[in-house]
Amino acid sequence: MSSRPSYLIIGAGVFGVSTAYHLIKKYPNAHIQLVDRTRYPCPLAASLDWNKVIRADYGNLFYMEKALEAIQYWRHDPLFRQFYHQSGMINIDNTGLGGEIVKNYEKLGIEVDAEMVSPERFKEMYGSFYDNTDFSEVGEVFVNRDSGWAEATKALTAYTDAAIEAGVKYTAADIDVLTFGADGECTGVLTKAGENIAADRIILATGAGTAKLIADSAPSRKELQIDGRLVAGAVVTGIVNLDPKNGQQYTEIPVTVHSVLPTRAPLSDQDPYTVKFCRDEAYKNTVKHEASGQEFSSPPNEPGQAQRQPNEALKQRLELVKNGILGESGKDVKFDEYCVCW
Ligand SMILES: Cc1cc2nc3c(=O)[nH]c(=O)nc-3n(C[C@H](O)[C@H](O)[C@H](O)COP(=O)(O)OP(=O)(O)OC[C@H]3O[C@@H](n4cnc5c(N)ncnc54)[C@H](O)[C@@H]3O)c2cc1C
Repeated sequence: MSSRPSYLIIGAGVFGVSTAYHLIKKYPNAHIQLVDRTRYPCPLAASLDWNKVIRADYGNLFYMEKALEAIQYWRHDPLFRQFYHQSGMINIDNTGLGGEIVKNYEKLGIEVDAEMVSPERFKEMYGSFYDNTDFSEVGEVFVNRDSGWAEATKALTAYTDAAIEAGVKYTAADIDVLTFGADGECTGVLTKAGENIAADRIILATGAGTAKLIADSAPSRKELQIDGRLVAGAVVTGIVNLDPKNGQQYTEIPVTVHSVLPTRAPLSDQDPYTVKFCRDEAYKNTVKHEASGQEFSSPPNEPGQAQRQPNEALKQRLELVKNGILGESGKDVKFDEYCVCW
């Protein structure tokens, strides 16, 4: 390693940017290069989105602890808090998850403004918005006023700006393969444009593209392959643009997770009257990788990963989400855009 250590981070989604930012803060003299396929933010990143739910309301304690740490930054760090909206989050659920989350907060000794309320009480709390919602077999609804949502694309862009300002070098390049030295160690990358980039440490933050990148780079090195350690999944979302008259009501509700099977969905409001519906369920696209002989899930090898063209089955699943939450009143609400996000 040279006197000025170098790090190459591939992938400028939230994990790659965060890694670059924290590395440069810790090692201001290091050479840190962040690479992604396009100018940032890359439209293929899962981290790029109309919005993301910011919550620690999960069934898994470890996940909750990590999310609670992150939420402090959303609330208090000037870099992030400008993009955070503490709208609250509710979970209309007949699987028992809400109760489990409340118990988890108790186990962690964390005080949150959360409660379980009956569907009747819940409906009273939010005017008439949930009058037609499917509450089948829902004993109680989980309400957490301490959760919210963030303007994801704006936050990711500002975070990347901050990393660059701190000294990180950003490069737009599609990485074809990783390169290896005589001892088998990863030494850098070869871009699709034919440029070699070398560094002391190579960090993959390539999200759903990781299995393919490794398999393309070292098809015969079994020990490097993803082999089920990570499974790429896609989630379908749909956007409805409403006029102020119909949109106003969405600005007054919390992020809504509707887990009355089979609808499962977070929904949140975002100005100006743009509502995102999301089917909270991941899909695989299993492909055979000829050179390595493996099968793994990978985004479609089509322009833009065919993000904007969900098939009819995925569209139908989003309809279930919308109808589960809005019932009859959602019949005339049509999707304006879709995204299959990897
Ligand atoms: C629809 C959807 C909704 C979600 N909602 C939420 C939510 O509400 N709250 C929440 O906390 N989480 C949510 N998640 C999960 C969260 O978005 C992801 O965990 C997170 O964004 C993953 O970040 P990442 O940096 O690992 O990957 P990504 O953001 O996907 O970044 C990976 C980057 O690697 C780049 N890359 C890949 N291969 C190459 C290559 N060969 N050369 C160059 N660059 C490459 C890609 O272009 C991409 O920009 C959601 C995910 C999806 C898909």
